[in-house]
Amino acid sequence: MNAKPANHLVSIAVDGPVGAGKSSLCDALAGALGILHLDTGAMYRAIGLYTLNAGIRQDDEDALKRMIELEDARVTVDFIDGQQVTLLNGVDITSRLREEAVGIAASAVSKHAVVRKYLVRLQQQIAKERSLLIDGRDIGTVVLPDAKIKIFLTASAEERAMRRYRQLLDDGKGADYHKVLMDLKARDEQDENRAVDPLRPADDAVILDTTGLRFDESLQKMLDIVNKAYES
Ligand code: C5P
Repeated sequence: MNAKPANHLVSIAVDGPVGAGKSSLCDALAGALGILHLDTGAMYRAIGLYTLNAGIRQDDEDALKRMIELEDARVTVDFIDGQQVTLLNGVDITSRLREEAVGIAASAVSKHAVVRKYLVRLQQQIAKERSLLIDGRDIGTVVLPDAKIKIFLTASAEERAMRRYRQLLDDGKGADYHKVLMDLKARDEQDENRAVDPLRPADDAVILDTTGLRFDESLQKMLDIVNKAYES
């Protein structure tokens, strides 16, 4: 676990479907490399939260356009002690972002080109300023098409659902595995078939299937991909 890229701006793009372990693996990988991790899902969640608070329907394209044009929902991110803090109109909303309703709203607003355009531009600005590992659904294809390192992290739907199911049980929340699996497949379907920037591996991404791998094994494979890219 000793990958340490050379002394210039490093951009690593990590994409993949829901439940592939992106967040925790990217946190660990960024930590091992000594760079920051930008979770772009949090930015879509911030917009989702705004629509919930403001009573905007997530399928109301005109209202979403007005919201962006008038800068009603200003998303910014900060890094405190290496950890991302997500702000909506200057207020730290990080603790709200994991709420189920916020995730559903994020998924719905993320279909709209006007929202994607706003957030993609922001993400590109943030990536210009510092070395960053960015995770999302469209990083290797749209946000950082020139990134030297692109990883597409995936696992079977059943394994991703099982991880999520265990997580819910660990959090003391009741859960039904089959419902978790159905919800996850519906989310995959939405992400892969959306008209704007659908989830797909970039042509030059390395696909890492973590089905059957432990966390530390997946992390080591990601480090191997980074090391290999810097050897060439
Ligand atoms: O990754 P996370 O579950 O937090 O993302 C929330 C939602 O935002 C996802 O359902 C996905 O549809 C959307 N998203 C996106 N593009 C990204 C990151 C997230 O469309 N780069």
